[in-house]
Order: sequence, then structure tokens, then C-alpha cells
Amino acid sequence: MSGVGKGITTASIGAILKAKGFKVNLIKADPYLNVDAGTMNPTEHGEVFVLDSGLETDQDMGNYERFLNTDLTSEDYMTSGMIYKTVIERERALGYHGKCVEAIPHVTNEILERIHKSAISASASITVIEIGGTIGDYQNILFIEAARILKVRNPEDVATILVSFLPVPGTLGEMKSKPTQNAIHQLNSYGVQADMIVARSIRPLDQKRKEKIADSTSIPADNIISAPDIDSIYDVPLNFAKDSIGEKVLSLLHLKSKKNGKSMRKWQAFVRKKNKAKKKVKIGVVGKYFDTGDFVLSDAYVSVIEAIKFSSYSLGALPEIEWINAKKLESGDRPISFLKKYDGIIVPGGFGESGVEGKIRTIKFCREQKIPYLGLCYGMQLMVVEYARNVLAWRDAHTTEIDQKTNHPVIHIMPDQEKKLLKSDYGGTMRLGAYTAVLKRGSIVARAYDKLRVSERHRHRYEVNNTFRSKIEMAGLSFSGTSEDDKLCEFAELPMSRHPFFVGTQAHPELKARPLDPHPLFTAFIKAALKK
Ligand code: GLN
Repeated sequence: MSGVGKGITTASIGAILKAKGFKVNLIKADPYLNVDAGTMNPTEHGEVFVLDSGLETDQDMGNYERFLNTDLTSEDYMTSGMIYKTVIERERALGYHGKCVEAIPHVTNEILERIHKSAISASASITVIEIGGTIGDYQNILFIEAARILKVRNPEDVATILVSFLPVPGTLGEMKSKPTQNAIHQLNSYGVQADMIVARSIRPLDQKRKEKIADSTSIPADNIISAPDIDSIYDVPLNFAKDSIGEKVLSLLHLKSKKNGKSMRKWQAFVRKKNKAKKKVKIGVVGKYFDTGDFVLSDAYVSVIEAIKFSSYSLGALPEIEWINAKKLESGDRPISFLKKYDGIIVPGGFGESGVEGKIRTIKFCREQKIPYLGLCYGMQLMVVEYARNVLAWRDAHTTEIDQKTNHPVIHIMPDQEKKLLKSDYGGTMRLGAYTAVLKRGSIVARAYDKLRVSERHRHRYEVNNTFRSKIEMAGLSFSGTSEDDKLCEFAELPMSRHPFFVGTQAHPELKARPLDPHPLFTAFIKAALKK
């Protein structure tokens, strides 16, 4: 089922095999019909993770990049929608030469072709593919069929792993293995025999249950891996390594560890640093995608949270991250002075009107009270709106995303975006992916990055309006980084003499933060927060 940890399992197995000296690539196959993840609401589906290429993907791709410490490509992600779209477009172009086009084999062939392309373009010797959804779903059946065909064609080179959940019903206190047995049987009915089970549960799986599952599923007990809940996902690869999961996968693939394997030394050092961190740093994230029914979900900002963690750990600090609902700051349910207790505040990316005044109030408070502030995308745009309203006294200043009639549209739509919106052409049409920015020498951002040209990923339709740029700069807010042609503001900041850290970026630097490579901008922000 979703949320059980297939993504982390995939990423961890990838990291372990990489440490054993193999070139590994990871693929996510998502069952939904959306052509990419860009059109999905983050409260329902979590963060949209953007690749360098600009493809909008599922948040699991973020974990893959963080665990493998590599940039993934468009070839490494597919959805049912994407597959069907290709097949249907090819059919319309007579690409099937008059044949009757069917789910099997044409859709499954397209899936297999993509897997092949991904492996080739990554020059990978091992590819780990995660199939989203649940066994028994109608939605993912063609991916499972493709996996079956892959194994039939390459019996020595394909292994199938089921990530399963073993509930411990509160009333019983006993771990139940029946759903796992049933899942394996269901998988068998598709013609697929799993080679390994990763057994997720709140507790470790005991030998007795391993044997019970082995008896009923024909999977050797040795290949049933206990994967109990743990505090940090970053401990998973080390726990898996203890269970020799890497050796077991290699033996299923008829491969041997390479001599040049580097072990997990770097990862261990990172985990040690994480466990030793103790200086507390309190970070508030002011956003709006938190509530789903009665539950609070932080998935919408997962990369931001992880970026805060990596930078904090690298400074020996333990972050306490709290969610502040911008809508509550807006309605007054929560007084703005409540923000005083934070060492640093982030306003992350976002869209639309709700909570926007709460975010602007937050930014004003941070500016006036000298609380370290980092604005990401919308968080930078609203920083410009706040400055225009309260320092330049353009009281009606706004982004045209919210107010199209304002006399001070300090943030406005990018010209090429306007046409797309008029055509309701929303899917994959924002300014997406990696772009280079040039930084001003001596600025806070240039010092943080320690270079003058940086590449960050983007996802936006609006930008700083150049008509107002020089007036805003004259009033003190510096656009310390711009696109190479100087047309687009990529970074904004107040000088250190006026504020310890008041920085915004049009980009999403959080998407490039890695455990083994913390992001310099986040590190500079956490440093300022620690000083406060
Ligand atoms: N809504 C803003 C835009 O489209 C900001 C987007 C974001 O924060 N990712 O430009």
C-alpha cells in the first residue's frame, strides 16, 4: 500500500548496490493516468519533484536522488498516462502500420522500451524499478505484466521484490502475516513469483513468522527481510546492509560484488553526524498544504524539510521543524508575534490566494524583527510584494497571480506563460527545470555558494516585473542573482548591514540538497538561524 516505504526501499537498495561498485539507476513507474505529477494537488499526492530536465515527478524521485547522490533524467520516470499518450500518438501517426493496438503487447512493449532506454542512457549495470500502487490494483497491472515479461526473457537477470506491510492490530498485539501471504498469492496469479519480501512493520519480524511466510509462499526465509519502523529513513540503508540485502540481491541476479566497491563509509559518516547533532535550531515553515482531513501532512514540503536537516546536521545542529499554517496567521487565529520563537523562517513554494496575506505578514515580521528568512519561489515573490507595500509604500502592490488590477504588479506573469494559460495549457508548461543564474560579487548568496554561476531547478509562471526593478533596488532590496541575460530576477536579499539573513530565490534549491552534499544556501540560512 502507499506510504509503506517502497520508495525508501528502492532508494536504499540502489545506494547499497552502488556502494558495491555497480553503476545503478532507479526508475519509478507510477500507475496514474496523469502524464506527469505536475497537475496533482500536493495535499493529496505530496510534493512535485522537478528534475534538471524539467520533468515534474513524484516525490520518490527526490529520495532516489538523495540516496544515490546523482541527478536522474526524464527516462527514469514513467506514468501510465505518459505510456498511453505515447502509444496513442504513435497509433495516430500510423506508427503501428495498421495493426490493432492493444494493452498487451503494445503498452507493455512501450514500458519495456522505456526501461531499456533508461538503463542504456544511464550506462547502468543494475536498474532498480519501483512499481507504484498495491498488488491487486487494476491500475498497475500492466507494469506488473511488463515485469513478468522482463523476467521470462531474462530469467537470470531479473529479481522481484515485494514490499509488504505486516499489521500489528492494537487489540491483539500480534503481528499478522496473512495480508503478505495473500499479496504473494495474488502476485502468483499474475504469473510472477517474488524472490524476496521486505517486511515492513512497526516491529521486527521474528523467525517464526519468517518461516510461516516462507512455507506459504515458497520464498526462502533467508530472503524475507525484516524492516521495522525506525526514526530516520537515512538509517534504512545501513540496516538493510546489516541484513546483507545487497549480497542477496546480487546472488538473485547472478552477480558478484565488485572489488572496487567503496562500502557505505560516507553514508555511515553522515548518519553518525546526524545522530551526534544536538544544538537545537528551531525552524518554522509557513505554508498552506498541511491539512488533509484531521491529519497533518508534511509531504508537500519534503525536500525543504530534508534540505534543512542536511544543512543542520553538517553544522552539528538538530533542527526542530514546525509547520505554521499561513491561513491561521491570515485569519488572526494565530498572532504574528507567535513567530518570535523561531530561529529561522521559511516560506516555501506555493500557488494561489489562500494564506497569501498570512505569508506576507510573516515576511514583514521576519524583516522587521531580524529573524533569518529564506523565501523559496513564491516565498521570494511575496518577499518582493511585502517590500513594495511596506517599504516603498505601494500599498496595493501584489502579484498578478492574485490581483490582476493592481497598479503595482511587482510580480507578473512571464510573457510566454500568458499564452499557455489562455489556452488552458497547464500540463508541464511552467518554467521548469535547471537554469543558470549569475550572482553579484560580494552578495550573501555569492558568498553562500562560493561561486558566481549557479544552476538551480525551477517551477513557476510568474516573475519579478522589471518595470519596478530599479525602484525596488533603490529602496534597498537587492536582486543579487539574475538569469544570464539579466532579464529574470533569480535571487533577492537585504544587505547584511540591515538584516542578518533575508534572502529569497525564484528557484527551488531544496531539490538539489543531498545528505552527502548539503545545499550551501540552506547551510548559510541555518548558520544565521544558529546565531540568532
Ligand atoms: N505561484 C508562483 C508562480 O507560479 C510560485 C510558484 C512556486 O512557488 N513554485 O510563479
